[in-house]
Amino acid sequence: MTQSVLIKGGTVVTMDADDHVLDGDVLVRDGRIAGVGEGLGSADVTIDARGCAVLPGFVQTHIHLCQTLFRGSADDLELIDWLKLRVWPLEAAHDAHSIRASARLGIAEMMRGGTTCALTMETVRHTEEVFRVVEETGFRATIGKCMMDKGEGVPEELCEKTEDSIEQSLALLERWQGRGEGRIRYCFAPRFAVSCTKELLERVARLARERGVMIHTHASENRSEIELVRRETGMRNIEYLNSVGISGPHVLLAHCVHVSEGEMIMLADNGTHVAHCPSSNLKLGSGIAPVAEMLERGISVSLGADGAPCNNRLDMFTEMRTAALLQKVSRGAEVLPARRALRMATSDGARALGLENEIGSLETGKRADITILDLERLHLTPRPEVVSTIVYAAEAQDVRTVLIDGQTVLRDGELMTLNEREVIGEAREQHRHLAARAGIN
Ligand SMILES: [Zn+2]
Repeated sequence: MTQSVLIKGGTVVTMDADDHVLDGDVLVRDGRIAGVGEGLGSADVTIDARGCAVLPGFVQTHIHLCQTLFRGSADDLELIDWLKLRVWPLEAAHDAHSIRASARLGIAEMMRGGTTCALTMETVRHTEEVFRVVEETGFRATIGKCMMDKGEGVPEELCEKTEDSIEQSLALLERWQGRGEGRIRYCFAPRFAVSCTKELLERVARLARERGVMIHTHASENRSEIELVRRETGMRNIEYLNSVGISGPHVLLAHCVHVSEGEMIMLADNGTHVAHCPSSNLKLGSGIAPVAEMLERGISVSLGADGAPCNNRLDMFTEMRTAALLQKVSRGAEVLPARRALRMATSDGARALGLENEIGSLETGKRADITILDLERLHLTPRPEVVSTIVYAAEAQDVRTVLIDGQTVLRDGELMTLNEREVIGEAREQHRHLAARAGIN
């Protein structure tokens, strides 16, 4: 049982249904929020949050922890070259040690920046290591082994037999679903339509429904990718996924940059979730996703940094700000205000993962995933409106303390479940070995 915690005297940005912001306290007991307001009594530990914003931990709905070690190794390439020349050879060269270092680095960076939960697609092998790291660090994640059973230019190490891909995914599901007091969940993660056979996609669609687990995949990120799918199937990307049964409220599609009118109707009608990754879309030159239009149509859109080699940060502040600015430049300055962007980064992310009753807002009864942000900074002054300050002005470095499931994982800027120096040291060493194995600098 974790200690009870009283977070005292902060500006509490609840992100509840009424967007309630109040000056007061948050009480945490047994990993859950036991009260929000004033006069909540005492606790084992008191955190002085005067001069701070207290908000729900960020939920990133598209991440690849296995790619954190590839940061800076795949710059200035468009998607298909980025995959074939850099990311796939590097993924193929991973061993258990390098995956472990990669996941630790990614989680350390996210926790330090106030992210408490992620949906992450790993590589084909060694996904077990990522589960272990999530369990050890106290992070919250829904994790999937990448599934790939075809594709031109896919290294041999990453191309699986359909049967093996399914079997290994099911073994991980059996082993890890619900571990870490429920913080850890499994999802099926077919990479994208280009690298999966129709048989694989159909079986995944069926199994996900039978087992009640999510599907996490990529769709309609890049024009060449869409053209490859059209040539093979005669359909647009999201239409094709829908035709094989990959659609619905348990499905999350990363990107959806180039979507037709018909595909938007499909996403809205089926309740399929979209993860918008603005920095990744810009850096790979993929395009600007029609987020404002998707939101107007009632499509669920949340945010993610994607992997370190296409961002190169795993920082929700960057993604919130960039998402808002991109829609303004394409649709007008009044579009996607700060409050909407913060919702995408918190409660909408929780809903996309089916965790809206557990996380995503600061309300009594929810799991205590909480980010405390120091507002007494030059670049955050003055601050007539705290949500505007968080979305447009704050940075990851302003995060002071983070709780996940009531456990303090960052205290006054210091990681509690990871040693930052060790994480950096092992990441540098493992990157050196990995780059040598892959023959990539
Ligand atoms: Zn991705």
